[in-house]
Amino acid sequence: MSGRLRRAYRGMRLGTRLALGLGVLSLVVFAVVGTALTTYMRDYLSAQLDTQLAQGQVAQSKSIADYGTLSGKKYYSWYYAVYDVSDGEPVLRRPEDPADIPADVDDFTSLARAQTVASTEVLRTEHLRGKGEYRLRACEVEPGVVLVSAAPMEDIEDTVGQLITIQAVTFGLALLALVVLGRGMLRRGLQPLSDMAHTARGITSHDLTDSGRLSVRHDGRGGGPEVEELRTAFNTMLEHIDDSLVVRAEAEQRLRRFVADASHELRTPLMSVRGYADLFQYAAANAPEERDRHLARLRAEAARMGFLLDDLLLLARLDAAEVETPLRPQEADLVDLVEQAADAFRVTHAGHPLTVAPGPGSLALRLDPQRIRQVLDNLLTNAAMHTPAGTGVSVAVSLIGDAAQVRIADAGPGIPPADRQRVFDRFYRVDKARSRDRGGSGLGLAVAESLVRAHGGRIDLTSEPGATVFTVTIPLTVGALTKS
Ligand code: ATP
Ligand code: MG
Repeated sequence: MSGRLRRAYRGMRLGTRLALGLGVLSLVVFAVVGTALTTYMRDYLSAQLDTQLAQGQVAQSKSIADYGTLSGKKYYSWYYAVYDVSDGEPVLRRPEDPADIPADVDDFTSLARAQTVASTEVLRTEHLRGKGEYRLRACEVEPGVVLVSAAPMEDIEDTVGQLITIQAVTFGLALLALVVLGRGMLRRGLQPLSDMAHTARGITSHDLTDSGRLSVRHDGRGGGPEVEELRTAFNTMLEHIDDSLVVRAEAEQRLRRFVADASHELRTPLMSVRGYADLFQYAAANAPEERDRHLARLRAEAARMGFLLDDLLLLARLDAAEVETPLRPQEADLVDLVEQAADAFRVTHAGHPLTVAPGPGSLALRLDPQRIRQVLDNLLTNAAMHTPAGTGVSVAVSLIGDAAQVRIADAGPGIPPADRQRVFDRFYRVDKARSRDRGGSGLGLAVAESLVRAHGGRIDLTSEPGATVFTVTIPLTVGALTKS
């Protein structure tokens, strides 16, 4: 039984539960108030009856003392017994009217006896057989004479009974109204929460796997500050989920594109390797003088594939840099690194005159010299690869604020505005066909940017015909040394 009740309670809506709780609480309050009121009323009426008895006895005592009779001083349905005390034992006087005393006067006699030994009046509540509850009062009229009066308490009981009935009815009605109206009001108050739950249910039916935004929001109003707060938190959470989903979808998209591009880029040198291998085999049998040429091409293609794989591997490791950084930082001189890169450039790209602008004599900072050299090489190679022969290239090192800067500029045709942002994307080339002919895979700038970012720096690009400038900014770490 209690189990079923508990199950039924658990199945109730929150509004009903709260209303029921309110009802139980009110019931307790009503019971306490009702009991207090009834007790007070009964005490008050009893005290009043006692006063009435006392006042009546004053007049009756006088009458008995003066005339030996009670006539004319009686109340309807009250009893009066007069006792003469002889040797300490009360003896009932014959009543003037037989109706003055009840059939059974034992209680009266015992009270009169108690009065003979008491110094003040004695009061007692007795149940008179066949008559009901009576309030008895005994007083000494004069030495040796005791008067015992009895007043019915039936009226008090009736009044108290009526009071209880009235209270029960009004409290009951109030309780009913409280539960019914309270339930309605609570339900209305809790409606915004139901609406929110409805919205949350709506999300479950939403396909989270598509890349579109989660357009579900809870747009109710009102309900008080708490509900408003909950609604704001709810919507903020949705916003957050939404953003995360979009970021994840974009990341997945990027990854897919990256894998597709990587496979595509790897296929090209692989096909070449196979082609040259076939040619080599053919030449070995038929034209031995061609053999070395094919072998050299085969080696070159394999090397190109190796570079591509190196770049891909490095990018993957840089992507996972939060777990383990692929850098080996040490104290190194940036000016020295730039000079080494410039020397190598002069040797390999003789067709592009290079100028190194005067700057600080040395600029020591904490970095991975090999990787920063790779960044410089990539940028310098681009300046030679993507500009016509004879185009001037310049490189400058400077210290700006708390960062070291390397500017690599060329006087080439520049990069169109629409491509400027995208040249840092993986596998992105402005002119795909031409860049690939030059051996480019479109990873150079992506690698350079990731490396510089791993050093806490950034690469900026400004370009216009005749002036393309890549600026590498690396923040100085604590204790960086400069000499001019
Ligand atoms: P990789 O460097 O991987 O061998 P790549 O040079 O084509 O190939 P990135 O270095 O990433 O790739 O450069 C991306 C593209 O940006 C290039 O294909 C080229 O179109 C353009 N670009 C880069 N540097 C310059 C430059 N100095 N002048 C003009 N275009 C440039
Ligand atoms: Mg490049």
